[in-house]
Amino acid sequence: MKIGCPSEIKPQEFRVGLTPNAAQEAISHGHEVIVQSGAGAGAGFEDEAYSAVGAGIVDSAEQVFAEAEMIVKVKEPQAGERKMLREGQLLFTYLHLAPDPEQTRDLLASGCTAIAYETVTDGRGGLPLLAPMSEVAGKLAPQVGAWTLQKANGGRGVLMGGVPGVGPAKVAVIGGGVVGTHAARVAAGMGADVTVLDRSLPRMRYLDDVFGGTFKTMYASAGNTAEIAREADMVIGAVLIPGAAAPKLISRAQLSEMKPGAALVDVAIDQGGCFETSKATTHADPIYEVDGIMHYCVANMPGAVARTSTIALGNATMPFMLALADKGWKRACAEDENLLNGLNVHAGKLTYGAVGQALGIEV
Ligand code: NAD
Repeated sequence: MKIGCPSEIKPQEFRVGLTPNAAQEAISHGHEVIVQSGAGAGAGFEDEAYSAVGAGIVDSAEQVFAEAEMIVKVKEPQAGERKMLREGQLLFTYLHLAPDPEQTRDLLASGCTAIAYETVTDGRGGLPLLAPMSEVAGKLAPQVGAWTLQKANGGRGVLMGGVPGVGPAKVAVIGGGVVGTHAARVAAGMGADVTVLDRSLPRMRYLDDVFGGTFKTMYASAGNTAEIAREADMVIGAVLIPGAAAPKLISRAQLSEMKPGAALVDVAIDQGGCFETSKATTHADPIYEVDGIMHYCVANMPGAVARTSTIALGNATMPFMLALADKGWKRACAEDENLLNGLNVHAGKLTYGAVGQALGIEV
């Protein structure tokens, strides 16, 4: 199969769909790979790294889309890219169609077959192509929160780990899933005093079993959340209710009860945010202040560490990409229910129930 990887064109997106390692694996399976010149540069992969493993370098996205049977990307295709998709072409990337009727309409009109990273499953109720980005965002959250806490950035001027004779920062992590666990581990590793709040008792049992000496757990009742927020130097929002907007767990009124200069890091901002005062920011201008409390609300946190994120995503997508290339999408999906769950669009039809429901389109 001829596999094509164009440059990402969404603003602030530095990741790339295929790493040189992934290209090499595909080539060793007998496939041909073409990469748009410069596609990997934002993640530190120059054209030479792709040509060294036998991939072809082409000048334009038009060439990639015209020649490739499967397009491997990171972000959903933008309007100009969607015009280049054609009947029978396979698209493997993040799509997030439910809130995006325009993209859905264009994909249906193109006649392509689109498999969305975010709905591929792993048989244990997990989402293996979303998890790596949650791991990245989780590990990044205390790092950006620590920076936000610095005085020059408007923060409280508190050092995460303290120093001999001065206690550490108090960090509350609301939501103990993939993001929350990684955030809590890094915050604890920096020496902070960390409490994870969740509403799932089985999850807290698991966290307590595995990380009992590293951080504490607490049930996320409204009362506990309010109390812990009042004492915190940093609160990391990491909740997820699948298919729903994030619940608002700290109100504007509560900000005045918090310590001045405390930091709120709202990782759940891509689901609307879990603090009432959250609004999405960008890497170019990531923080703002409301009522003396500093907010960090970047919606695509993994983009800040594009190289790590690209490699992590590539590791997760590679076996699926190879199965699609080796067997063709029909047999690959017939033999793997988890990959089949990724199928969102085929030949002008929506094939994913939740997206159809969200957009009022028959599936
Ligand atoms: P997850 O499903 O692994 O974990 C979510 C956790 O939240 C679960 O343990 C759940 O029990 C808990 N929860 C749900 N409602 C709660 C409540 N009211 N109070 C306390 N806990 C509650 O999800 P995840 O992969 O960790 O993702 C968390 C959030 O981070 C999501 O909104 C996701 O979209 C977002 N995310 C953002 C970025 C970014 O760049 N900003 C990157 C990756 C993920």
